Amino acid sequence: MHELTLCQSLLRIIEQEAERQAFSAVRVVWLEVGDFAAVEEGALRFAFDVARRGTPAANARLEIVPVDGEAWCPHCQCRVVVGRQYDACPECGHFGVHIRAGDTLRIKALEVE
Ligand SMILES: [Zn+2]
Repeated sequence: MHELTLCQSLLRIIEQEAERQAFSAVRVVWLEVGDFAAVEEGALRFAFDVARRGTPAANARLEIVPVDGEAWCPHCQCRVVVGRQYDACPECGHFGVHIRAGDTLRIKALEVE
């Protein structure tokens, strides 16, 4: 289950931030989840619940912010939004678009106390 690995590295980032910015607890974690990140929301929430014990995010609420899959088509030189990583360009129908956004998991914001 790669969601657990993802959550563990996210929580490491949160712990580092807690030390750097001197906060003791996180109230809300806003997490950007890309369309292509291959993350299942239920599994992600479960993994977060397991991994956050004993961290500053132990009682945090997890807010998932979906991010559109964004790509660049070298054929028509367009910036396009695609639903899946291997979709054809919606403008010209060519395959081989380059993914620009939506393939990652990223902490967008933390509400801390
Ligand atoms: Zn195109």
